[in-house]
Amino acid sequence: LDVIRSVEPRVADAIGQELADQRESLKLIASENYASPAVLLTMGNWFSDKYAEGTIGRRFYAGCRNVDTVESVAAEHAKALFGAPHAYVQPHSGIDANLVAFWAILAAKIEAPFLTEHTAKHVNDLSEEDWAVLRRALGDQRMLGMSLDAGGHLTHGFRPNISGKMFEQRSYGTDHQTGLLDYDALRSAAREFRPLIIVAGYSAYPRLVNFRLVREIADEVGATLMVDMAHFAGLVAGKVLTGDFDPVPHAQIVTTTTHKSLRGPRGGMVLCQPELAEQVDRGCPMVLGGPLPHVMAAKAVALAEARTPDFQNYAQRIVDNSRALAEGLLKRGATLVTGGTDNHLVLIDVSSYGITGRQAEAALLDSGVVTNRNSVPQDPNGAWYTSGVRIGTPALTTRGLGTAEMDEVAALIHTVLDATTQGTTKSGAPSKATHVLDAKVSESVATQAAEL
Ligand code: PLP
Repeated sequence: LDVIRSVEPRVADAIGQELADQRESLKLIASENYASPAVLLTMGNWFSDKYAEGTIGRRFYAGCRNVDTVESVAAEHAKALFGAPHAYVQPHSGIDANLVAFWAILAAKIEAPFLTEHTAKHVNDLSEEDWAVLRRALGDQRMLGMSLDAGGHLTHGFRPNISGKMFEQRSYGTDHQTGLLDYDALRSAAREFRPLIIVAGYSAYPRLVNFRLVREIADEVGATLMVDMAHFAGLVAGKVLTGDFDPVPHAQIVTTTTHKSLRGPRGGMVLCQPELAEQVDRGCPMVLGGPLPHVMAAKAVALAEARTPDFQNYAQRIVDNSRALAEGLLKRGATLVTGGTDNHLVLIDVSSYGITGRQAEAALLDSGVVTNRNSVPQDPNGAWYTSGVRIGTPALTTRGLGTAEMDEVAALIHTVLDATTQGTTKSGAPSKATHVLDAKVSESVATQAAEL
């Protein structure tokens, strides 16, 4: 830190403070983790200075032999770990990985046949007229993804993201009674809508998805199944999700982030079947800028870590802890979406405490418990205020907490939510944004959180 401080002390101080904050609070954000020292060190070195557009062995820059090595090693580990025929480790984030996948599916289904059947030309030789026909074909495609309030992600076809502008989108959701994924409704929607892509995977669904069943539905309507396993990649890597619940054997293409339950550096990755490999490898420069060699190197290290028995043990403990956390909350009277969990996350419906998700998130943060507010299915408070709080166990499990501590964490969360009431606006009307929290409770929870 001294080296950084000599150049810009505010940044050095922020780094030091971030470490202190992460040490002294309970990190329950389901998408966060603590990467190992090996992963962190691999990101901070001379690879960050290197340009390497292109793919392994086919670069637009000279001097890329060492980048070729780290990209190959990362891809080799990814293929072995997930049993995938092809891996592309360049995407800079989960959103970028999804963009690569969308384009690959479009290109394979539309562009490639168009080029061979319609014009028999190489893409560089298309006339303006050819492009106009191709653009119309590309622009008329549909995506069926899980709805945001049921736990889907913005990139699964929603307006604030380019996926919602590239594709005509429709969503599938969960059963209103049980909160569970409604496969019959998904099948009906697919039959009626006839999408090019069905996206499965989620950011806030606390149960497992049967990918074999979703693939059957995709095949029936001629859609490509893309699974975004960003959240649960660590559980797949750790062999906790196998058979019908492992997306890799069932989907034609799988995307992921590398920094959530997988515990690597911030980044993305695409796994696919051989027929999509060529299009996926066009990710840079089609939708990505130059790769981040230092991050690809760190992905290689994290993937090597994930191939160990220790990691399998870690993945199982994530789920054990998540179940213990859910049980601890349920027994204290909390309401959970779907009534529990089968994976790394728990979604608390905080409306039973008489507060919004935003108030709950703020009250918990005041007390040293870091979470994020999240919509619940059919949320009356919308996506900004929300009625839910999402919590997950990957980070606390990395810190070594077990099921007994999860019961204590559940007690702390319940205590804070129970001691929080709605604040008011200046006019005295109830506010969805502000909260009133008993200061003594907050202080005592913060002390216990830091001790844990
Ligand atoms: N896909 C899913 C399912 C996610 O939950 C997220 C992030 O929360 C992403 C993609 C995007 O990842 P990133 O923030 O790395 O772009």
